[in-house]
Amino acid sequence: MRTAPTILHLDMDAFFASVEQASKPSLRGKAVVVGGLGPRGVVATASYEARVLGVHSAMPMGQARRLAPNAAYLVPRFGLYKAISDQVMELLRALSPLVEPLSLDEAFVDLEAGGVAWDEASARLAGVRLRADIRAVTGLTGSVGLAASKMLAKIASEQAKPDGLVVIQPGTERAMLAPMPVRTLPGVGPATGDHLRRAGITTVEDIVEAGEDELVRLLGKAHGHGLYAMALARDDRPVTAEREAKSVSVEDTYDVDIHDRLRVGLEVQRLADRCVRRLRGAGLSGRTIVLKVRRFDFSTLTRSETLRGPTDDPGVIREAAARLLDSVDTTGGVRLLGVGVTGLADYTQEDLFAQAAGARVSTERAVEEHAMAPAEEQPVFAGRRWPAGHDVRHAEFGHGWVQGSGLGRVTVRFETPGSEPGRVRTFRTDDPDLEPADPLPLVLPGQDKGRGPKDETGASRLRPVAQYTDADG
Ligand SMILES: [Mg+2]
Repeated sequence: MRTAPTILHLDMDAFFASVEQASKPSLRGKAVVVGGLGPRGVVATASYEARVLGVHSAMPMGQARRLAPNAAYLVPRFGLYKAISDQVMELLRALSPLVEPLSLDEAFVDLEAGGVAWDEASARLAGVRLRADIRAVTGLTGSVGLAASKMLAKIASEQAKPDGLVVIQPGTERAMLAPMPVRTLPGVGPATGDHLRRAGITTVEDIVEAGEDELVRLLGKAHGHGLYAMALARDDRPVTAEREAKSVSVEDTYDVDIHDRLRVGLEVQRLADRCVRRLRGAGLSGRTIVLKVRRFDFSTLTRSETLRGPTDDPGVIREAAARLLDSVDTTGGVRLLGVGVTGLADYTQEDLFAQAAGARVSTERAVEEHAMAPAEEQPVFAGRRWPAGHDVRHAEFGHGWVQGSGLGRVTVRFETPGSEPGRVRTFRTDDPDLEPADPLPLVLPGQDKGRGPKDETGASRLRPVAQYTDADG
């Protein structure tokens, strides 16, 4: 196992519900339940305000309604969640070529393979910056766990929730795990948990004390061995990218344009070295070296050179980058430089994937935000669907969302992500002025451009701003 906490686990906070609260100002700070609204529907995600009332994911919707009768009940908008997930995953892939998504809102990242972290301080900094970037780009909060293994990184992000960051220092894992319930460990679901409890094993420490032979006797060979290793904090599972990285690159933006040609050259060498570290960390090599230069006037140039064969040799990549720089006019100054390698050789990567293929441990606890098939549960009136929570546009009143519908009426709240909480109006379901609309972006392009570097203490966008009143229709 590695000796620095450079495996990161990101888990967006109450993802679907947070997206809905961000897009609907009147729901901020309120109990929101997203899920299938039909008779067999289950909760996909509950906002933290709904969780306080006992609602949780995978709970039957009827039970949720009894616990939280005044919550807003919304049909999932997977297209929107996927679009925001793509933004988040892109931020993760900027950190490392080794990103392993577990769901739309959860992923492991190997920071060491990306060359962005090598010890606790650099890992913590990467985590703090990531959280700030996620907030700036999506307006949402995510929690980050950092540890020396996947299991512990996931436990850390769970402890960090909501809106936090937790680092588990290598060396402290066993003491930290000891008093935790057995359900904390991956692969221990309700059934295994009950089985262990009947044998008097309720904490991780109990597992260690029972010993490997007893675990194997109780749970069978594979599960017993695996669980005993996890209890000792032994977890060597690598972070494995779902799909092959097409390129590995690094870039830096400078606060002040660089004019000195010598300094530009040194920066390119430094970026080449960083790119090589990232390449090697992922066990990759590549044939094509790419240089990116953004000049003082924002014109951006890329130059590339393809070698005879793949390389991860820092000398070769540095020389290629220097040759490419020779062909670029930098008088007037540069504001961004980048070095990348593409045309990646796949033989090393194939080995990496083959080795990891059988290593996945299913996590029964990872039920949050699981998918469902709600399509057939959406109410249909006069041939048109008005699912609760979906966006609409009215010819006179503008953009809004369906707060409820029934008995030939549809109630719409007119508000947008950037507006104040809006007013509610009721229409006939066949009103010709009303039509379904696409979701609006949660953060307008450029809205966060001026934001200073990475403030951990920034105020939440999901603050309660108004009293929620139930649908009047
Ligand atoms: Mg989540």
